[in-house]
Amino acid sequence: MVTNAALAEALFQLAESQPPGEGRLPLLRAGYAVFDHPRELGGGRRLPEAIPLEALPTVSMLRQCHGPDALGAAVQRLAGPHRARQSSSRQGFLTAAEIDTALAEGSALRVGELRGAVHWHTRASDGAGTLDAMARACLRRGASWAVVADHSRGLGCVNGLDDEGLRLQRAAVDAWNHRHGDELRLLQGLEVEVLEDGSLDLPRSRRQGLILVAAVHTGLADRRDQTGRLLRALDEPGVCALAHPRCRLFARRSGLRVNWELIFRHAAETGVALEINGFPRRQDLDAGLAAMAAQAGCCFVLASDAHHPRHLEFDRNATALALRAGLRRPSILNFNLLDGLRSWLDERGLVAALGG
Ligand SMILES: [Zn+2]
Ligand SMILES: [Zn+2]
Repeated sequence: MVTNAALAEALFQLAESQPPGEGRLPLLRAGYAVFDHPRELGGGRRLPEAIPLEALPTVSMLRQCHGPDALGAAVQRLAGPHRARQSSSRQGFLTAAEIDTALAEGSALRVGELRGAVHWHTRASDGAGTLDAMARACLRRGASWAVVADHSRGLGCVNGLDDEGLRLQRAAVDAWNHRHGDELRLLQGLEVEVLEDGSLDLPRSRRQGLILVAAVHTGLADRRDQTGRLLRALDEPGVCALAHPRCRLFARRSGLRVNWELIFRHAAETGVALEINGFPRRQDLDAGLAAMAAQAGCCFVLASDAHHPRHLEFDRNATALALRAGLRRPSILNFNLLDGLRSWLDERGLVAALGG
């Protein structure tokens, strides 16, 4: 049986074998439709409606292949003028069907038992929902605490929070906690930018009371080794977690070049949590790197990186990656109640990050 992962990869390769332009689109769309389909299609199941008509004959032919060799041969036979080949920027991602299977089979970590909804955005930066709408959605998903983490103003590409924005958000967080804090305690975080030299775009004097999630968004095309940049970021006072550590994006870029062994060892020493970002096109850390980080003794936070209330469920993807990596529940912060998070922060001298 051809898996969705293999079928989607075959379609992406065929798309890329076509000259750039319109000719690629139906195959690309078909690839994504298969990649995002929640059930394995196998040989028999009805094809997803999102597959464009023009691509149907190719999809039907490919899914009848028996085994990877036959599929590979079919791809070479159907390829256009450019070479059909694997791309490292697509490797190590789970398809929607693989995520469902991992969650159905994995009893060690259950999405329904996540108590912390971590790293999501609101309209104050580049999200689509208000703080209250996002908080209500976290509550509906069973969270008892949640960390809003909008972007800081230093990040050039989005409308981040400046001092005034942070103050206004703090007031909104306090107002929520005053009314609904018993059901869901909101914590104010901030997704701060790791600058080229590894320092943060937020002065130390303004870090108090914030759960800082440090992230790289610039210099991603730089093929030089960036180990030093991340090591210094881990040493920055107040950093609770390193967000989407590898900074890869599906089919676009394979992420930073760093010595992961050194990063993970230092994260374990400094106690900074590593994020498993469940945004479907990020999946970062991937299962392989997360397993390596666990070996080094790191702790983890599962994040949706939601930019819309609907995206909060992306913590499912992060949970599936954690299951695939064989992570143990005590090493994942989100399975704690608020008290557990408080002791974790306390041990690291960061309890002030819980704010008022
Ligand atoms: Zn980010
Ligand atoms: Zn984010």
